[in-house]
Amino acid sequence: MTDESTTIGRCPDCEMELYEYHVLIEFETEDGGTGVFADCPECDDVVRLNR
Ligand SMILES: [Zn+2]
Repeated sequence: MTDESTTIGRCPDCEMELYEYHVLIEFETEDGGTGVFADCPECDDVVRLNR
């Protein structure tokens, strides 16, 4: 189930709250966690978050 209003965390650059619909891609990190690349509308750039 995907809830588009779910937050995924804050942008590491501007601290804006980002949501599922900002996510571009999910990937597995080296330590087995899940990271995401998201499109931050405030930075107008792609930022990396850890989930
Ligand atoms: Zn940002």
